[in-house]
Parts: sequence; structure tokens; C-alpha cells
Amino acid sequence: MATKSKKKSAAKKAKKQNVYFFGGKKSDGDGSQKSLLGGKGANLAEMCNIGLPVPAGMTITTEVCTHYYANKQTYPKTLDAEIKANIVKIEKAMGKKFGDLENPLLLSVRSGARESMPGMMDTILNLGINDTVVEALAEKTGNAKFAWDSYRRFLQMYGSVVMEVEAEAGEHHDPYEVILDKAKAKAKVDDDSGLSAEELQWVVAEFKKLIKKRSGNDFPEDPMDQLYGAVNAVFNSWENDRARVYRAKYGIPAEWGTAVNVQAMVFGNTGKESGTGVAFTRDPATGDNVFYGEYLIDAQGEDVVAGVRTPKQIAKMAKDLPKSHEELLKVREILEKHFRDVQDVEFTIEAGKLWMLQTRNGKRTGFAAVNIAIDMVREKLISKEEAILRIPADDLSHLLSPIFSAAEEKKAKKIGAGLPAGPGAACGQIYFTAEASVAAAAKGQSVILVRQATSPEDLRGMIAAEGILTTEGGASSHAALVARQMGKVCVCGAHGMKIDYSKKTLTGEGITLKEGDFISINGFVGNVYKGELKPSPSQVIQGLLENKAAAKKSDTYKKFIELMEWADKHRKLGVRTNSDTPEQVRNAIKFGAEGIGLTRSEHMFFEGNRIDAVREMILADDDDGRAKALKKIKAFQKKDFIGIFESLEGRPATIRLLDPPLHEFIGTMDSKQIAELSKKIGMSSPAIKKRIHSLHEENPMLGHRGCRLGVSYPPITAAQVEAILEAAAEVQAKGTKVLPEIMVPLVAYAKELEHQKQVIDEAAEGVRAKYDLKKSELKYTVGTMIEIPRAALTAEAVAEHAEFFSFGTNDLTQTCLGLSRDDSSSFLPEYQDAEIMANNPFASLDQTGVGALVEAGTKGGRKAKKNLKIGICGEHGGDPDSVKFFHRTGLNYVSCSPFRIPVAKLAAAQAALEEKGMARGEVS
Ligand code: PEP
Ligand code: MG
Repeated sequence: MATKSKKKSAAKKAKKQNVYFFGGKKSDGDGSQKSLLGGKGANLAEMCNIGLPVPAGMTITTEVCTHYYANKQTYPKTLDAEIKANIVKIEKAMGKKFGDLENPLLLSVRSGARESMPGMMDTILNLGINDTVVEALAEKTGNAKFAWDSYRRFLQMYGSVVMEVEAEAGEHHDPYEVILDKAKAKAKVDDDSGLSAEELQWVVAEFKKLIKKRSGNDFPEDPMDQLYGAVNAVFNSWENDRARVYRAKYGIPAEWGTAVNVQAMVFGNTGKESGTGVAFTRDPATGDNVFYGEYLIDAQGEDVVAGVRTPKQIAKMAKDLPKSHEELLKVREILEKHFRDVQDVEFTIEAGKLWMLQTRNGKRTGFAAVNIAIDMVREKLISKEEAILRIPADDLSHLLSPIFSAAEEKKAKKIGAGLPAGPGAACGQIYFTAEASVAAAAKGQSVILVRQATSPEDLRGMIAAEGILTTEGGASSHAALVARQMGKVCVCGAHGMKIDYSKKTLTGEGITLKEGDFISINGFVGNVYKGELKPSPSQVIQGLLENKAAAKKSDTYKKFIELMEWADKHRKLGVRTNSDTPEQVRNAIKFGAEGIGLTRSEHMFFEGNRIDAVREMILADDDDGRAKALKKIKAFQKKDFIGIFESLEGRPATIRLLDPPLHEFIGTMDSKQIAELSKKIGMSSPAIKKRIHSLHEENPMLGHRGCRLGVSYPPITAAQVEAILEAAAEVQAKGTKVLPEIMVPLVAYAKELEHQKQVIDEAAEGVRAKYDLKKSELKYTVGTMIEIPRAALTAEAVAEHAEFFSFGTNDLTQTCLGLSRDDSSSFLPEYQDAEIMANNPFASLDQTGVGALVEAGTKGGRKAKKNLKIGICGEHGGDPDSVKFFHRTGLNYVSCSPFRIPVAKLAAAQAALEEKGMARGEVS
């Protein structure tokens, strides 16, 4: 007996629950189960659990989606029975029956991934309706118009999503909208809601004909068949083009899958006492603590988000539907207190009763993220640590982006205005389709994508554009959410403006612009201007770098500074800068850099005629010629290093010895430049050409560069060391502390470093003798970049000769992946589309591959020297995910360009808090 019951309970345990019920005050799941139930499903369950009014429903888990794709698009065996059992529960909770001819229950079917992907997957509403149910619905509600309206909406969605009857290639208008327009024209009304029951009946008949004609199939009358078709379509939409592009952009793994939520319909389109809307508990663009949203009377949710009808501001609801408005304000408070974050909600009012259909943490701009997090700390809703974790580090860059000055705007010609949906200033050339925008951006143009209403199909164009302008719809449309999340400048619903797609023109205030003309948009206030306005620096930049008093008084500036202080308190990683000039160094220090992590000494030669000296050095074919050129180089460098050391005011400076890939200096010279150089360096043009030819390399990135140059020509190393240390000696003599860290690039063998260290030490001896300084009076350290896999793998031996390491993850990525850092961008997007790579590995570290080399190099280096100082100075030093990886690997600091320093600091603080077990306050 005992064995039997044990077996029984084991079998019970092993049976996986594929479907979770929610409704009433008790759900199977809760808000913590986002990976299983998706964000929407988990929060619907949570809202029920805290007593908010939610129509009952069921969530089919993300594991079913994973199963579906792993098993040739088939479902778990028990799924059918589980769905049917849950339909019964929903029927009970709602007091209606699915497919019933007296009191029919209609359902919505929606996707719901772990992280929300607005508009990327499919939704079907009003499911369960057919030729007989529609009559029952009309009878039960006493509202035939509503019943037929619901039916036509269902056919429209089901026809396009499940039966794939959509606009065909070359067809400019949605075929359903064409039929609706005909009906409206016949009835002489402007709005869908103006159509009578009879007119809608005609629309339904026409929709059915359309579906039959184009798909070859009748639309299914059986409600259960409809349900399975819809569930299937939602799972399939996980792999549609839009969803894949979105996943690639946001690094969402395909394995996560989506859940499907099947929920009882409630109706916002039953008359004047009904309505539907979307709202944010605070303004998602600015972060202001105001209830921000839109609603429509007598409408369904899709009308608001699709931008078909222009919704009203939520404040107006106080007059239209006062009881529901008051209730909604209470819900706002309950939600913010419970979720302790800004919520993005969808609601419907059916004949005066409020229903909550969704809540999720609201996507917000960088401005709003900072504002809200800091305000919530002040309101004691969250801790400072949570505030740090809440702000996507990358979004801090929004606060540093340019704005238009009031004077510029005053001078400009305003041609329209809309809702400010994405703050910032953008100017560029206008394009009216996603494809044209992508093509123009690929040619290097700044693009403003102009659409009547943006739709998820526009995603690629939105990614390519600097800014987005729509002439219809509201600030809560799906696509506007996406724009905001991407940090794109966005103006929505500029109603006074007209687009003519066929002529490719935009008209406003009597001015007509053609494709390719320039406009400027101000996403803080919603203004649209003709032509190119000159942007000025953001308030943070004006306050920090320009020391402007007015900017320093701005809320944005103050909050930014406060946030940086909190981040500094928590982070363990140091943050240095990659800077090559005294000015860059000064800026970086104002951003909070703790020193220089990389000065690329060859970059000092890209300006003026300095490059000639480097060319002369490269082209010299004997020691004397080289010595002559080096003398010039040393003079330039010494002057620059003096400026840099002075700007650093005692902070450390890692200076890398010359690493000039030959093609950057001599590969691009034309005959005229050669003739000019010939005059300057006293070498004949034919001789220069011959030397260039003999120096030509097929793969200059893998060529005679870095320490290889110093090994071949030790005087090149010696001259630079003299420049660095003479500058150091002179600056410290004037009372400023200097900490030079001399870094040898592109080392693969320990012996290369040993060789170069000897040259460096000998040159240093010479400088000490020249200035009559003792060893303790002119200090420096010698270290190396780890940017070749061999150096990472043999780091223990390399460290014997190094006082510090710095990972050059640009070259390390290039050499680990065998992928050119200069050319691979031509095909990397295809790799991302195919989900072979989640990210561009030159932008965000390939943690499993290149990261393993970083780990091996760190371990090896510290085996030889326990306290070896290790940093990273590749581009990844300013990428939040990579910064977190470097924290976990135990590096001492990251180094990045001055403008990325705030991002790196915040990411470093987040990494330290995450290490303590604090989870990121995920924005779902
Ligand atoms: C690197 O390779 O990561 C690096 C910082 O050096 P560079 O980009 O100059 O090659
Ligand atoms: Mg490098």
C-alpha cells in the first residue's frame, strides 16, 4: 500500500502543470512566476491575489512554447484536457458559457513573454463568436450593434492573424479597412462607432467573403476550433520577423518562449457608459508624478493602442465617467504601493464596471527612469540600492544627449506640434517608410521616420532613425512605447500635419516638405520645425563640463549628480577613461574618471601635420632616418604628456606605447599627398611609393604593429619612454604628482614583454641621469595589454614581467573570434537576425568565448602576482553587461570614453549590489 501511494504521489508530482488559472481572489500562480507565466500572466495572477478586479482567465505556460518548438510544433499530451478544465473554471467565475446560445462567454487570446515585447506578437479578441452566438449576444445584451461590432472585430483579427489574410504585396491599404471605409462612406459617418447593427452585419458578410476568397477556407464556426487556431497562432508569432528583430535588439533568448493568456472578454464598446484605456501611474517620458494615460468611450483596447481613433487624456475621464475615474485613481495607488514601481496598465469599463486587464512595470525613457527612481526614494517607496538597480545603465546616455536651445527654436519655422512621446532633440532627413529609412541611414544620413501612425512593422526603420514623427494616434500606441524604450526622440499625433504617402510629402502650416528634406523635432515639448536646428549640449553636460549655473539648478542635473553619488558609494570597480588629449582628460575627470586607463599615443598624431612625422618614421629605411623622425615625434609627445599629467592632477595614467596599424598611417595616401610628404621629409616620391609597396601588408591588423614594432626597432620604444618620463619629471618638479604606467601593446609572448621592459628600463635610466633623479624620485610601472589569446593563455608567464595588465578586448575579440573589427559589421546583423549571436561582440563582450580568455588571463596573472592590478580598456569598458562581467571576474577597473563614464559607474554599482544578492528591479 505504502509503495503504491508513494508511486501515486510521485506520478502526481511529475505531472507538469501546463495551464494556470487566474480569477476571483485566488490564482494558481503569482507575480514571481514571470519566467513560467510570462510578465502579463504572472501579473494578472498577482492583481487577482491583491483583490483587484480582473476578468478570469488561464495562462498557458512558456514551457508549452518551448515544448512546441522542441517537438516539431506539437503540444504536451495533457494540454487539451487542461485547457478544457480551465474553460469550465472561467465559465464559473464569469457566470457565462463558451459557445452558449443564452449567455455566451467570449475570450481574448494574447501573447505574454517574460519581458514585454509590445506589438511584436499576435492578439485575438472576441473569440467564441459565430453566426449563432452573435445573435445570442445581441439578445442577451439588448445591443445588436455591439454584438455585430464585436463579430466584425473578431473576423478582422482572426482573418489576418490566424488565416493570414492581410494586405498583399503592393496593396497600400488594409483590405478590412477598405471594406470598413466603404461602409462608412455609404452610411456617411467618419467613425467606426457610427455604423449601425445592419451596416456592421454587411461588413461581417464582406469580411467573410474576403477571408474565403483569399485563404480558400471558411472561417471556423466552432468556438473550440477558433481557440486552438488562436493559441497556435500566438505560439507561432514567437518566431515571426518582428519578434525576432526585437529579440535580437534586446538580447532576449529564443529559448524563453512566450506564454499565452486566454481571458474572459469584457467590453468597452457597449455604449456611452463603457470605455477602455491605457495609463501609466507616472509620466513615462519625463517621470513626473502625474497619472498619465488615454482612453476612449465606447471602444475596445486595440482602438487606443493602434492609433486608429485619437484617445482623450485620462484627466477628462473625471467628467465622462466620474465613478470609474475615481476607482482608477485608487487602483493607481494600490498598484504603485504593491509593485513599488511605475505601472503601465490597461483597463476596460463595461457598463460602469472597471476591470483591470494588465499591469506591468512601465517602460520609460532615461529621463523618466532617473526621475522616478529618485522620487521613489524620497517617497520612501524604495531604497537607494533599489533605485540604482532600477535604472538601465545605458539609458543614462539619454541625459547626456543634445537639446535645442530656446534661441534656436525661436528663430526656426514651426510647422507642427504633437505629443512629446520621447524626449530629446533630433534633426534629420524625412523618410516615409521603414525601408527607405533603413536605406538612408545605411548611407550615413540622419533620418526622421515620418508615419501617420507607427506600427510594429516599422521596427527596423525606427531602429535606423534618429527620431520618429507621427501625425495620428496617441502617446500610448505600441510603437510609441517602443520608441521611448529605444531612447529615440519621438513626437506623436501631430494632427495639424498631413502626409501624402503616394507623393512622399509632409505638409504643415502651409509648408510642404519632400522625402529627403530636413526637419527638426523637439521630443520634450512636441514641436516640429522645418530645416536643421543646431542642437546644444544637455543640461547635465552644460552643468558638468561648462559649469553653467542655470543648468546646475535644473532638476535633471541635480538628480544626475545625486545618482552618481549613490553609485560611487556602492561600486567596487574603479572607472578610468580612455583619453588622448588634455581636454578629453579634463572632461573625463568632471564625469568622475579616476585616472587614465588608456592613452593611445598614436592618436595624438592624427591631427595637423603631426602625422607626417609618424609617416617619416614608418617610411625611414635606416636608423638615421628613423632617429630624425623620432626626434620630432618625441617633441610632440612630450608636450602632450605634460598637458595630460597636469590635467590629471595626481591621478594615474596608463600610456600605451605606439600601436600604429600601418594602413591607418600610410595605406590611404594618394599621389598628391605623397608628393607633399616628399617635399617635407626629403625623400623622393618614387622612393616613398617603393617603400609603401615594400611595407604593404595583406592583414595590417595582424601585422607589424604594437610591441612588434618596438622589438624590431627598440629606439621607437626608447624615444616614447623618454617623452613620457621627461614630461613626468618636469610636471612633478612643479609640484604635481604623476603616476605613469607604461603599457606595452599586442604582446603574445612573455619574452616580448621582457624585451620591451628592458628597453623601457634602460631609457628610464637615461632620463633619470638627465634630470639627476634617484630611482625613488622618478617612478613608473610597466605593464601590458592582454589582447592576443596567447597572452591570456600564458598570463602566468607574462605577469612575471608585468606590474599590471589591461585587457584590450577590441583586439582580443578580433583575434579570439577571427573576426575583423573593421569589416565584420557588414554581415554581423545577419548573425544577430539568425540568433547565432545575441549581440555585436565588439559592442558587448562575448562572455562565454572572449570572456573565458579574460578569466584565464586574470587567473594566470594573479597566480604569478597575487595582487596584480588588472583593468580593461577595450570598448566594452562602457557597456553595462560587460562591466558587470568584469566586476564578477575580479578586475580592478574598467576604462571607457569620457561620455560613457556615468554608464560604467552605474553598471559597476549595479554589479556590486547584484553580487550581494539584490535582484535588478526588472522593468518588464
Ligand atoms: C583593444 O584592442 O581593445 C584596445 C584598447 O586597443 P586598440 O583599440 O587601440 O587596438
Ligand atoms: Mg588593441
